[in-house]
Amino acid sequence: KTQNKFFVNESIDTLLDMVKNQYESENIKINFEYENIEITNYENELKQALLNILNNAKDALLSKKDIEDFDAFINISLYKNEEKMILEISNNGGNINEEILYKIFEPYFTTKFETQGTGIGLYMTKSIIETNMKGKIEVQNIINGVKFTITLNI
Ligand code: ADP
Ligand code: MG
Repeated sequence: KTQNKFFVNESIDTLLDMVKNQYESENIKINFEYENIEITNYENELKQALLNILNNAKDALLSKKDIEDFDAFINISLYKNEEKMILEISNNGGNINEEILYKIFEPYFTTKFETQGTGIGLYMTKSIIETNMKGKIEVQNIINGVKFTITLNI
C-alpha cells in the first residue's frame, strides 16, 4: 500500500480556508499556531475529525452570542513533543458539565435537542483518531471553555 505523507499544518490550513468565511460571519475568531509536522495516511479523516470539533465549538460559542462584549474564539495549536504530535483545540464557549464529560464520545449522545444534534460527531472523531490512527483524544474543561487534545505517534 502506498504511504501518503502530508504536512498536518498544511491540511489544517486548507480546512480553515474552507470554513473561514462562515466562522467570520458568526464573529468567531480562529487562531492557529503550528510547527511543521509531517505524518502518514488518513489526511481526509483527520480533517473530518477536526471539522467535527470545530462545529461543536461553533455551536457552543453561538449559544453565548447574546452576552454583551463576548469575544468568541477557537484556538488551535499543533506542536511536537518527543515522538508525538499534539493537536489542541480549545474554545471559550463554556464548560461541559462534569457529569456528562465522560459520555460525549459515545454514539448518539447529544445535548442539542432543540437543534436536533445527532451525537455522531465526536464518536466519529474518536474512531478516526483512536481506531484508524492509533492515537488518543481527550477532553478537559478549561477556564470558560473546553479543550480537546489529540495525540498521535510520529
Ligand atoms: P452533537 O454535536 O450532534 O450533539 P457530538 O458527538 O458532536 O454530537 O457532541 C456530543 C456532545 O458533546 C454535544 O451535544 C455537547 O453536549 C458536547 N460538546 C462537544 N463539544 C463541545 C464543546 N466544544 N463545548 C461544549 N459542549 C461540547
Ligand atoms: Mg457535533
